[in-house]
Amino acid sequence: MSRTVFILGAGASKAAGAPLMNDFFDAAEAIRRSGIASVDNGSFDLVFDGLAELTNLNAKATVDPHNLEAVFGAFEMAVMCKRLGNLPSEQIAQLGLAIRRVIVDTLEGSMQFPIQDGEVMAPSPYGDFLALIRKMNQADMGSVSVATLNYDIALDYAVYRAGSSIDYGLPGSRGTFPIMKLHGSLNWTRCAKCGGTVPLDLPALIAGYDLTRSLIRGAQYVRLPVRKRLVQIKHCELPCEAEPLIVPPTWNKAQYRDLVSVWERAAAHLAEAESIIVFVYSLPPTDEFFRYLYAIGGNPDAARLSGINIRRHILIVFCIMGCLAGVAAIIYTARVGSASPDAGQLLELDAIAACVIGGTSLMGGRGIVFGAILGALIMASLDNGMSLMSVAPYMQNIIKGAILVTAVGLDMAGRKRS
Ligand SMILES: [Zn+2]
Repeated sequence: MSRTVFILGAGASKAAGAPLMNDFFDAAEAIRRSGIASVDNGSFDLVFDGLAELTNLNAKATVDPHNLEAVFGAFEMAVMCKRLGNLPSEQIAQLGLAIRRVIVDTLEGSMQFPIQDGEVMAPSPYGDFLALIRKMNQADMGSVSVATLNYDIALDYAVYRAGSSIDYGLPGSRGTFPIMKLHGSLNWTRCAKCGGTVPLDLPALIAGYDLTRSLIRGAQYVRLPVRKRLVQIKHCELPCEAEPLIVPPTWNKAQYRDLVSVWERAAAHLAEAESIIVFVYSLPPTDEFFRYLYAIGGNPDAARLSGINIRRHILIVFCIMGCLAGVAAIIYTARVGSASPDAGQLLELDAIAACVIGGTSLMGGRGIVFGAILGALIMASLDNGMSLMSVAPYMQNIIKGAILVTAVGLDMAGRKRS
């Protein structure tokens, strides 16, 4: 088992071109418009029809029609219940296949593999990631494995480029570097006879790929389409299915029994790991909840009219704030070594000052987490500095208050100008 397990979430492949969950259908639309020949237009049309139905239903049941995970789950549910708005049942039966095709085509269309000196390189940041793992190996930091929720083959390709072979944890895997792809992979398919999961070897994929045309065009990136090559795999002396194995990131995993060995292995690795490192993208710019908060802060009326549940969001924010205040109380009590009901009085002013100094607007709608952290550092060093200089406590409060007033004044002035 491994001492270090890396978990790669959605967004780990963002720099390599893969769209984020919330941007997925925008990216899919762009891929459909780009006119790539291999794109299955029928599936795209069907998925967008299904999305339109979901958007209509969204008024009654809250399914976010922009989020791939939510939509995938809703479609799986629709296929099971044979119902999705006014969509005819024969189309609903096709939805499962259609959304998988859209995922595959969108990923294959948007992932970019850089060309350098006539060779296809590992996309960023996976080249650096593999270099890091190599350094860990040289420093004798124990074995490393990766569990990923992504379907793309950027990591697989990086491992192949680094000269290692991949152990997917599937029955019969014989590689050396363990990668557990929990939701399937673009280069996995199923045996038409025994139903076993069969990966397409990357060397076979690359050998079948002709770079000459891209090189003549002077392209800096290539796409590596995998779906077309899956039929080359043979298992039980028969060609395998032509569809990649894509498992929904939702509850419905019953039909993927053959992946149990991968999941069990991931669980064993995680249970015995000494360190677990998780790679995900930062939430604020992408996550709907936080975007809604910006909207509510900026203009509550407009936010309400665009369908945001203001009271629910504000309630959640107060809950989060209460929890964080609890954490702060524990730390404060531990530091002082005693507790009193009025401990931490006026600390909220420090917190507000830290946020305002960090660029958060008291009028709402503006501010970033990093700024608030910076503001907190400034306030803390100010506190510390004044105590070291033995400034009297009442003077400290006056100075901090003056800073808060100045910051708010500057914010107001900036608002007026803009
Ligand atoms: Zn077979």
